[in-house]
Amino acid sequence: MNKRGILAIISGFSGAGKGTIVGELVKKYGYALSISATTRSPREGEVEGVNYFFKSRETFEEMIDRGEFIEYAQYVGNYYGTPADKVQEKLDLGIDVLLEIEVQGAKKVMDARKDVISIFLLPPSREELERRLVGRGTEDAETIRRRLEASGYEMGMAGLYQHQVVNHTVEQAAEEIEKILHAGCGQMD
Ligand code: 5GP
Repeated sequence: MNKRGILAIISGFSGAGKGTIVGELVKKYGYALSISATTRSPREGEVEGVNYFFKSRETFEEMIDRGEFIEYAQYVGNYYGTPADKVQEKLDLGIDVLLEIEVQGAKKVMDARKDVISIFLLPPSREELERRLVGRGTEDAETIRRRLEASGYEMGMAGLYQHQVVNHTVEQAAEEIEKILHAGCGQMD
C-alpha cells in the first residue's frame, strides 16, 4: 500500500523569511514546493515556472472560473492561487508537498482538508521583520507599508495554525518544521 504524501501549509509575514526556509526544506529534506500562479509582476531574478506562474488578471480569472485552484486569494492588490493538478498528483505518489501561502488561502485549505498540517512562521521581533522587508530591497515604500499593514491582520490569524515557529535562523526554523512534519508521518489513507 502506498503511503500518501503529507500536505503542509507554511504561512508567515512577508519578510519573515518563508522563501528561504521553504528553499532549505526542499533542498535538505526533499519536500516538493507547490508553484503558485500570481498576477504580481516578477521580481528581478524570478523565473516563470520556478518561482511562480505569472498570469494576467484576465487569465487568472479564467482559471478561477474553470475551477483550477485548490485555493486562491487577493493579497496587496494581486491574485495568488495554488493550481490543483500537480498537488494531488504528488500526494498520491507519496511525495510530501509544501504550500507557501498567505492566511486567507490557508484558511480555505484548512477548512477543506482535515489532513493538512499548518505552520505559521514568526519573525523574532517586529523590528526584525521591518528590517528584513526593507533590507530585501525588492519593494517600493508603499508596498512595504501595505505588507506591514497586512502583517497586523495576519498576526491575528496565527492562532488558527496548529504550529508556530520562530525564525531565528534558517537552519533552526527548517529543522523545527521538519520535526513537526515528520511527527505527522503516521497518517494513513
Ligand atoms: P510574494 O509577493 O511576497 O511572493 O507573496 C505574497 C504573499 O502571497 C506571501 O504571503 C505568499 O506566501 C502568498 N502566496 C504565494 N502563493 C500563494 C498562493 O498560491 N495562494 C495564496 N493564498 N497565497 C500565496
